[in-house]
Amino acid sequence: MISTVRLIFAALLAATTITFSIPDTGATERGTLRLHYVQKPIGYERYELARDGDALTLTSDFDFTDRGGRVQLASTLHAKTDFTPVSFKATGKSYRFVNVDSDVRIENGNAIVKADGAESRVPLTGPFYTVDGYAPFAAQMMLLRYWKLHGEPRVLHTVPGLPVNDVYIEARGREAVRIGGETIQLNRYVIDGVVWGRETVWLDQHDTLAAAITRAGGLSFEAVREDLESELVGFVQRSTRDRIADLEGITRRVAPLKSGTYAMTGATIVDGTGRAPIPDGVIVVRDGRIDDVGPRAAVTIPAGVPTVAVDGKTILPGLWDMHTHVTQIEWAPAYLAAGVTTVRDMGNEFEFVVPLRDAIASGRALGPRILAAGLIDGGGPNAFGVYYAATPEEAKQAVAKYHDAGFQQIKIYSLVTPPIVEAICAEAHRLGMTVTGHVPNGMTIEQAAAAGMDHVAHLPIRGEAASDDVQKTIAFLRDHKTVIDPTQSWNELLGHAAGTPISAFQPGVLKIPAPLNRVFSNAGAAGIDAATARTRLERGLRIVKALHDAGVPIVAGTDEGIPGYSVHREIELYVEAGLTPMEALQAATVVSARAMKMDAEVGTIERGKRADMVVLNANPLDAIRNIRSVRWTIREGRVYDAPALWQGVRFQP
Ligand SMILES: [Zn+2]
Repeated sequence: MISTVRLIFAALLAATTITFSIPDTGATERGTLRLHYVQKPIGYERYELARDGDALTLTSDFDFTDRGGRVQLASTLHAKTDFTPVSFKATGKSYRFVNVDSDVRIENGNAIVKADGAESRVPLTGPFYTVDGYAPFAAQMMLLRYWKLHGEPRVLHTVPGLPVNDVYIEARGREAVRIGGETIQLNRYVIDGVVWGRETVWLDQHDTLAAAITRAGGLSFEAVREDLESELVGFVQRSTRDRIADLEGITRRVAPLKSGTYAMTGATIVDGTGRAPIPDGVIVVRDGRIDDVGPRAAVTIPAGVPTVAVDGKTILPGLWDMHTHVTQIEWAPAYLAAGVTTVRDMGNEFEFVVPLRDAIASGRALGPRILAAGLIDGGGPNAFGVYYAATPEEAKQAVAKYHDAGFQQIKIYSLVTPPIVEAICAEAHRLGMTVTGHVPNGMTIEQAAAAGMDHVAHLPIRGEAASDDVQKTIAFLRDHKTVIDPTQSWNELLGHAAGTPISAFQPGVLKIPAPLNRVFSNAGAAGIDAATARTRLERGLRIVKALHDAGVPIVAGTDEGIPGYSVHREIELYVEAGLTPMEALQAATVVSARAMKMDAEVGTIERGKRADMVVLNANPLDAIRNIRSVRWTIREGRVYDAPALWQGVRFQP
């Protein structure tokens, strides 16, 4: 099939030198892209682009199966031969919880948009395209062809959007890929705004889509033309280099307001140790560390140290998110903007997270400190990711790979068998690492803890908190010193009644960029009412409280959700569960630091610790929602302006 396509192109190239990427009348261009989730091949997108007179019709069938769940999206795009869209229709899903139902028609300079049951008329000015998220990739190929043929405009508008999305495209480089003795020339582009954040797309010399890298459900998603499959990791590496360069660019634009040595005076300091807040406190920061902290009367500011008055503010230790997947650079500014200075990455592309972590650690790029847990699954068709262990020898090799790259933890995934859980834990412990993850299929949480898992992700405890069974489980976890990241904000986000707007419990959603808004506007459980959703959430919160009361460390983790803001929601939910505001804040600071054995370095505001702090306009001990009032975030002494960070990744400040 590929060679047929090339023959058509060869004929076209001979016929014309300008519009070589438009098929002849009657000709059909076909493509097959292999789809991958976190590098694991999971399905295909097949597309056809047919020409009939001056009309082009792109049909695409996007179809994958991820961990046993099938996702399908059918779409049709009609365009003129200069790629200007005439209509676009997409129906199905682009990810497990992302429903797509869009129907756009262009009429006299307007887009008639039917999306999710509502119809609107959107006036279009300037260059525009019809595309609804990353899928189908062929629509993004058409977008690029349109962009190239229309003078490479700096910005174009896409529909459906809110009401339009601003999309920025840039050519980023050329490269030659050698496949079986043949060299293929590729052009690399960045597309920013079709989804939240940047995607990388490669076209070959005929403008045929060669590869694309984006995210789905917050994790990396790759499309690679069948014949280029062996180049997958190379595509990931090239894309990673571009993205880290982009983050370095953001780092230059959102420079710290202050760094080096300075003192902050007048704030209320909640040092995170659990001691009473210090009113009218002073913090002296010297070269990234806290040099002194205490009440104004007790701290002498050394001569010559510049002083910043922050009267009326509240200063906390920087927050932690103990369950994330930092699969795109845009998370780094977003986390800092939300006051988060350390994250634990719970599964990512090795080739992405390692360079990103190192760029941040070196100070070249801004962002939270990244601690990484390396994902290992049990293999087979339903496995997740590309690191598997089915034998003790494979377990050792997988653990060694992560250990050598400086990962702190291993994350066990659902298909690892009980004896291999034990082998992974034994090897990780031998190397000084700890183990977290899902309770594997066929094991109970007690068995997982007994097999050596130090932490457990999510809240895999069914039943009522007060029941004998649950109480027994909790006592077992306490005795095993098991740490839990309950990801309640994630449960709430996906489990809220579809009729309840997310803004009712998560005001942060009102500030997110339009493409992200479209993803989450369809999240939620269909067919349940608000009361049922609340009952389910409260059952989980009662277990969180019972675990906490028993002495099981609860660490705040989100599993992503609404970037940054889900950390605030997670903390709020712990207060709803019955923790005091101080205890909830500690779950997102010192308790997390202790769980990662880093509390000697970070997690509280004490002399000698790293200066990771967040400055709030209002005190969260008065009302926990004040955790949302982040003004500045301090990362190892560098003071960042939260609104500027948000704007750097296209959130409203
Ligand atoms: Zn996760």
